[in-house]
Amino acid sequence: MSEFVFKPFEEMTPADYAEIGFKSGLEIHQQLLTEKKLFCRCPAGKYHNDVYHAEILRHMRPTLSELGEYDGTALMEFKTKKDIIYRIHYDTVCTYEMDDTPPFEINEQALDIALEIGLLLNASLVDELHISRKQYLDGSIPTGFQRTAITSVGGYIPYKHRQIGIIQMSLEEDSCREVSDFGHTRIYLTDRLGMPLIETVTRPDMRTPQEVAEVNELLRRLVNSTGKVRTGIGAARQDVNVSVTGGTRIEIKGVPRIPMIPLLTYNEAMRQWNLLRLRDELHRRGITNESFEATTTEVTKLLNKTRYTPIHNAVAEGKIVNCVVLRGWRGLLRWQTQTDTYFSREISDRVRVIACLTVLPNIAHSDSRSETLSSHEWQKIRKFVSATEDDTLVLVWGDRRDADMGASEIIIRAKEATLGVPSETRQALYDGTTGFERILPGPQRMYPDTDLPPKKITDERKERIKANLPIYFWERENWYRSIGVPEDLIKDLAISKYAKTFEILVQEKNISPILAANALISFPKRLKKKGHNINLLSDDILIEVFDLFKKSVICKDAIFYLLDKITQNGELDKSIIPHPCTQSELNYEIRQAVKKVEKMKLYDGKNKVVLTIAQVMKNLYGRIDGCIVSQTVKNYFEKENIYE
Ligand SMILES: [Zn+2]
Repeated sequence: MSEFVFKPFEEMTPADYAEIGFKSGLEIHQQLLTEKKLFCRCPAGKYHNDVYHAEILRHMRPTLSELGEYDGTALMEFKTKKDIIYRIHYDTVCTYEMDDTPPFEINEQALDIALEIGLLLNASLVDELHISRKQYLDGSIPTGFQRTAITSVGGYIPYKHRQIGIIQMSLEEDSCREVSDFGHTRIYLTDRLGMPLIETVTRPDMRTPQEVAEVNELLRRLVNSTGKVRTGIGAARQDVNVSVTGGTRIEIKGVPRIPMIPLLTYNEAMRQWNLLRLRDELHRRGITNESFEATTTEVTKLLNKTRYTPIHNAVAEGKIVNCVVLRGWRGLLRWQTQTDTYFSREISDRVRVIACLTVLPNIAHSDSRSETLSSHEWQKIRKFVSATEDDTLVLVWGDRRDADMGASEIIIRAKEATLGVPSETRQALYDGTTGFERILPGPQRMYPDTDLPPKKITDERKERIKANLPIYFWERENWYRSIGVPEDLIKDLAISKYAKTFEILVQEKNISPILAANALISFPKRLKKKGHNINLLSDDILIEVFDLFKKSVICKDAIFYLLDKITQNGELDKSIIPHPCTQSELNYEIRQAVKKVEKMKLYDGKNKVVLTIAQVMKNLYGRIDGCIVSQTVKNYFEKENIYE
């Protein structure tokens, strides 16, 4: 392996990433915009954060697979001995989610959307849908498995001058939302559980952290351009796979925001690279998987009087302290893994997640440069556990069960360092580093679901979806540019749910592209800021409003006026349609406004015109275009008393 040493994030070049063999792929999860959940008829997208009507307590237990093996991640979850609590709201959960009744038939609307997106990705749709169960034993799904079905295989998207391969796409159920995870208790909300979700898996074709973010953005926009997926916080989450030459494919789970990806993948690549260098250093010291030596000794009595607060308090509460000796490891817990992060965190993470010692710090070690025990205390322990200056001591404290589990995890993790990068899933942390999440599940976590028969995807169905495929957003963008849509609206319009409406307005109704783009993108944004419900703006209502304009029933400015009213009232009612004002009405309003303005004390005579226009617009809002008012008022002032 090369001697490459990681540079700071900003200084890394594509050539550097090539040297370490950086490779990354994405698994993008996106909620579909359906009314109901995937396998029951509960509503989708209805959330309650604090209100719930019942709580259910469950414990997860691993069962032997058909091959007679336990899954690694299942065993890990079993070791944590967690109480899993589900909070349930009557409106969003039925007996299906809790595994008390079998599944209903699959949501056809969700299936159509998944097939449509598969076609957009140039993939081959399956002829028959086979529903499988994917094991999840972290408690995020009460049944212990997720129902999932592959809807398409293969495919690609164009990126720069090459193609990013798609491996497959699945339609699956969303999991619970985690409320908290502290000590031996984990709490979940169940409203999101069972909502339809697609998972798109790309090939590991991205070569730099920036490419990963760009491809993710591209895929996100492509999927959004159907207008049939949910958007906003939590609606799309991605797992990012990273590996380097000689490393292991590591999944960073549930990255909430695309801008976090470059730093996260950089840090994960650095971590793997540095773990490989650590392995080499251990081998240089003669420490291999076979010769690795470690012992655990209880040292509580030696620390009765320590001034190091975390241990002092633990001992006072009757907890115990274990000392793990890592033979020949001197200095290696200070081995850098990520930005400002050292190997000691690999150990602390395992202790936190598996031994449930969630209060930090949960370990103290003799390589540390920060103040923990006094050097006299370290010497005393070193003697008691028969360690030399070449060894590293790691302390872990807690209830006997947790402290013993903690010591055994410290040894497991340290021993893994002699092999390189252990297989695990990692979580995205807000400082851009990754933290241990769980042991990577084995391949045997998928098995057929016996509750639902295979479902044929007919050629008619495929053809129907094919005939209604949306235009690619990058083609839309090119078209918008050619017809003069303002540049700042192009990106949003291209993936807007109103993109189709825009086509109708411009091509069939002959509406100016600028007006249509403003009405479909800028207006709803402004109304949303005012707190209006812009979901009330359906395609039909929007087209109806433009028809009124086209027939001169309303003026141009009345379009925004009407959208404003509709997003408050919910419908396009005759009573809210403003009638264009007549010339004599306008003249009357101008005369009234001039009188009013003349009574005001003005420092600058020029303001008269502006104030008069504002006064007239206030009274005639929605009934006449602002530009006509402003021109008429200006004329009035130029040729004074022309209307008298
Ligand atoms: Zn349900």
